[in-house]
Amino acid sequence: MPIYEYAPLEPPGCALCCYGFERLQPLSEPALTHCPACGGAIRRVLGAPHVQSGQSHVLREDHIAKHGFTQYRRIGKGLYEKTAGKGPDTISGD
Ligand SMILES: [Zn+2]
Repeated sequence: MPIYEYAPLEPPGCALCCYGFERLQPLSEPALTHCPACGGAIRRVLGAPHVQSGQSHVLREDHIAKHGFTQYRRIGKGLYEKTAGKGPDTISGD
């Protein structure tokens, strides 16, 4: 099953979608159009970080930080860890 990455169409979004989130979906399932938590419009992001590897991942995060963005990745239920940018090291999203 592929993992799709989603980001809000209209920031800031909610605790779940504001930094983007990943969702495991069967191929037969259509792409989400709305955040399951806040109902805000979201879009599917192409080129999710987990399909990249090594250097490109580092460069991507460096790029994100340089442009003033903060990126988080989900490390548990409702828990997110910062991977790039400014902000708290972890946030809880529930
Ligand atoms: Zn949301």
